[in-house]
Amino acid sequence: LSDKLQNIFKGLKKKGKLTEKDVKDALREVKMALLEADVNFKVVKTFVKSVQERATGHEVLESLTPGQQVIKIVNEELIKLMGDSNNELTYNKDGITVFMMVGLQGAGKTTTSAKISGNIKKKGKKPLLVACDIYRPAAIKQLQVVGAQLDVPVFTMGDNHNPVNIAKAGIEYAKNNGNDVVIIDTAGRLHIDENMMGELIEIKESLKPQETLLVVDAMTGQDAVTVAETFNEKIGVDGVILTKLDGDTRGGAAISVRSVTDKPIKFVGMGEKLTDLEPFHPERMASRILGMGDVLTLIEKAQESIDEKQALEMERKLRNAEFTFDDFLEQMQQVKKMGNLSSIIGMIPGMGQQLKDVEIDDNEIYKVEAIILSMTKEERANPNILNPSRKKRIALGCGRSIHDVNKLVKQYDQSKKMMKQFSGMMKGKGKKGMFK
Ligand code: GDP
Ligand code: MG
Repeated sequence: LSDKLQNIFKGLKKKGKLTEKDVKDALREVKMALLEADVNFKVVKTFVKSVQERATGHEVLESLTPGQQVIKIVNEELIKLMGDSNNELTYNKDGITVFMMVGLQGAGKTTTSAKISGNIKKKGKKPLLVACDIYRPAAIKQLQVVGAQLDVPVFTMGDNHNPVNIAKAGIEYAKNNGNDVVIIDTAGRLHIDENMMGELIEIKESLKPQETLLVVDAMTGQDAVTVAETFNEKIGVDGVILTKLDGDTRGGAAISVRSVTDKPIKFVGMGEKLTDLEPFHPERMASRILGMGDVLTLIEKAQESIDEKQALEMERKLRNAEFTFDDFLEQMQQVKKMGNLSSIIGMIPGMGQQLKDVEIDDNEIYKVEAIILSMTKEERANPNILNPSRKKRIALGCGRSIHDVNKLVKQYDQSKKMMKQFSGMMKGKGKKGMFK
């Protein structure tokens, strides 16, 4: 999905001005890409409609960077679709908190139960895992193994007891042993079936868990959404945990689950290891789906602090090789307005890695300013004339060494290259930028 979207957006970015038709065409492609990624049809329809309404508005078509505006809208609407990020687990204030895990067989209930227990243990809770899957061979053993790895106690009664009774006994055990959170690992089936639902409803009614957490496998795409819908209707869930997101390349389930069930995604499973559980961040998921790293944040920052006219002028100068030390200084001050230099560079895809070992010290900027300010007008406008004697004079003038001046000249040459990419990107037409 992310590849497809990137291609669509590349097309948009190349255009200077967009017409309503450009936007419509691009959104038709977005729609196809979403459907191919197994996003729920109804979700796609409403999504595209709301993006279209915003994107064909005056402010986008008239703006200097319409392509980026459209991407920004797509991103914002994606985030809206996936819900807010305040999805923390809640606890019972007076007494034992019960979390009940439900889901199909193989979805990741047992693994996720353990992951959660490990997480909350680190936060000072005293979890107890309760093994209520009496059907799947070795299910109890599996929970014991992962519990042992995390040093979290596991309550079992073998497979000869009714899951409801096991769960109740587990809570009793917790009371007597100082555990404040009980995580019930239930049995799933390969498909939704009445017996399973009946058993889960019974457990839920007798335990009244604080949270019923539905575990779904993100890799199953649209099926995961259907499963979520059914579980929510029949049993009622408080939150969804999307597992195997590490192997999910399409993002279909992540996009639709929230809007179909109206239940928040609380966590995502990012691997088989017991530490691979993360809170769900819709904005991160959206940028992952758009496949652009933190580019959107960067664009926002750039839009806030870079005067677009100035950026255009700068790019013209770059193209005509008129870029001088005065411009260099100005550009640096613009960048300074955006905040910490290293963090900004880190947001540029590919760039962060490239410049990993280059040290960027924000204080450097002040030194650089001092050196440039010691240059004559002529020198700033025409760096080529900087011969050794001029450099010596400059060094004396600003109280730095010739070495510093030489360093700056080198930096200036490098920056010329870098700014070329930078300003191209900020302008968003992608002519010389990173988006090419
Ligand atoms: P259950 O039947 O619902 O209890 O599922 P399990 O917890 O036994 O998990 C089924 C398989 O999925 C196991 O092999 C797990 O290691 C694997 N699994 C669970 N969560 C994740 C995840 O987030 N990422 C990956 N890659 N594998 C996972
Ligand atoms: Mg299991």
